[in-house]
Amino acid sequence: MTIEITPGALRERVAAFLADDPGRLLVGGRWTPAHDGATFATLDPATGETLARIARGSGADADAAVAAASDALASWAGMRPADRGALLWRIADLMQEHLDDLAELETLDQGKSVRTSRLGEVPAAINQFRYYAGWPTKILGETIPTSLSRTPPGKEVFAYTRREPVGVVAAIVPWNSPLIMTAMKLAPALAAGCTIVLKPAENTPLTALYLGRLLQEAGVPDGVVNVVTGFGGEAGQSLAEHPGVAKVAFTGSTAVGKRLVATAAGSLKRLTLELGGKSPALVLPDADLAQAVDGISRGIFDNGGQVCVASARVYAHRSVYRDVVDGMAAAGEKLRLGHGLDPDADLGPLVSLAQAERVAGFIDEGRAQGATVVTGGERSGDAGTFYAPTVITDVRADMRLMREEIFGPVAVVTPYDDLDEVVGWANDSPYGLAASVWTEGLSDAHRVAARLQAGTVWVNCHSFLGPELPKGGHKESGWGYENGAQGLENYLETKTVVMVL
Ligand code: NAD
Repeated sequence: MTIEITPGALRERVAAFLADDPGRLLVGGRWTPAHDGATFATLDPATGETLARIARGSGADADAAVAAASDALASWAGMRPADRGALLWRIADLMQEHLDDLAELETLDQGKSVRTSRLGEVPAAINQFRYYAGWPTKILGETIPTSLSRTPPGKEVFAYTRREPVGVVAAIVPWNSPLIMTAMKLAPALAAGCTIVLKPAENTPLTALYLGRLLQEAGVPDGVVNVVTGFGGEAGQSLAEHPGVAKVAFTGSTAVGKRLVATAAGSLKRLTLELGGKSPALVLPDADLAQAVDGISRGIFDNGGQVCVASARVYAHRSVYRDVVDGMAAAGEKLRLGHGLDPDADLGPLVSLAQAERVAGFIDEGRAQGATVVTGGERSGDAGTFYAPTVITDVRADMRLMREEIFGPVAVVTPYDDLDEVVGWANDSPYGLAASVWTEGLSDAHRVAARLQAGTVWVNCHSFLGPELPKGGHKESGWGYENGAQGLENYLETKTVVMVL
């Protein structure tokens, strides 16, 4: 397959940003190189060309950033709630003004189509700030009527709770949807009065660095948000271990999530984990098939399947199985692969050569084990990073293709005969992030939704997410929930005050 690479001219502000040594760390309001001057390259995954050199932060940089965040904490937490809310809204306004720049940068660095960045991801990131802008004025404690046996005679006991920011937060994010993942942590943490050290993924640091400039322009005080770029085992690990960090908010792989649990055990620092998935989509015999095929295909092919909630395991009732396989194959074949900045491209490259090789490895292994590639199953492009939308059948329950998160545009489709049995198959996974069920039957929809082991269940849709909808993983897909009121809870402690009057 030949891929045309026609990125064209960059937007003026993006070109200026890339030309102006963008890869420094943001620490205490100052843009600085790493303490030892180390850098690494961030690449355009479509071409393999270097976009910018990025500061490679490590231990001493994490120390400096945590110190800056600690210094900024008291005044940020003490700011009038209405003013904090107004600042979050102002951040959203500035992001809106720079929407096209952010979209272009995200596409350049991550690969996804600019349509996805512009119409989906950057607006979704902006909405995180708008949603949480309303919260600082609504963080409430309680007064509590007490029945204590030790109340001194003639006295009263008055008790209440205060909600206080947890402290300095290390926000560690992955590369698949970098700006959204960043906003999902920054917006509630800022609303709660926390200060932050943000560690973007090494593959995709550019929008975090651009956002750092917008935060300064919005008037976020120095030290409230710090950005330490670098590698997971260096900058990430240093932050996760840091005694000055009160809470780690992590989105990424289950493997690294488990390591962070071990790291946090020493200090019992707060930890929320948004981890991997292998989400099932169940197509019942009475489903609206056109809707199901379209929704499930988008669910697995959008962003090259590099989506934590991707519809990776499709179970179709035998009476509609062939239609689902053929429909998804046709949907995949229709998608045009190209440079993400090509306005006609539906799908860009995967994020890196390593990721493309990983996806190819799963397919090669599956082929060798007897799976049937209905469509796709090949890699291409100058840098070898494009992977064709793939539909694969005849996959047994014990194969890695069925059990492990591939994080590529690969749908495994399996027929079923019995509803109880397929719910069991859907739940037969260490993951429990999301699931969808496709049916016109109200009773089946509710019953199956109740039985699926997943943090989110969609009926007749997939990947519908928003800042007001709690999102988290059951089982090995995570700890805690982001978004909505529960997302704010992650960044708050409760203090009970008991007074004898
Ligand atoms: P990853 O776990 O390799 O890395 C995620 C982040 O953690 C990166 O910033 C990385 O530098 C950092 N990191 C790596 N090792 C670390 C360590 N030892 N200590 C501290 N930080 C460390 O994940 P990835 O490959 O970047 O992202 C893909 C994964 O993210 C997939 O598994 C996907 O399902 C998951 N994800 C989950 C959600 C969700 O909401 N549940 C959303 C998006 C992505």
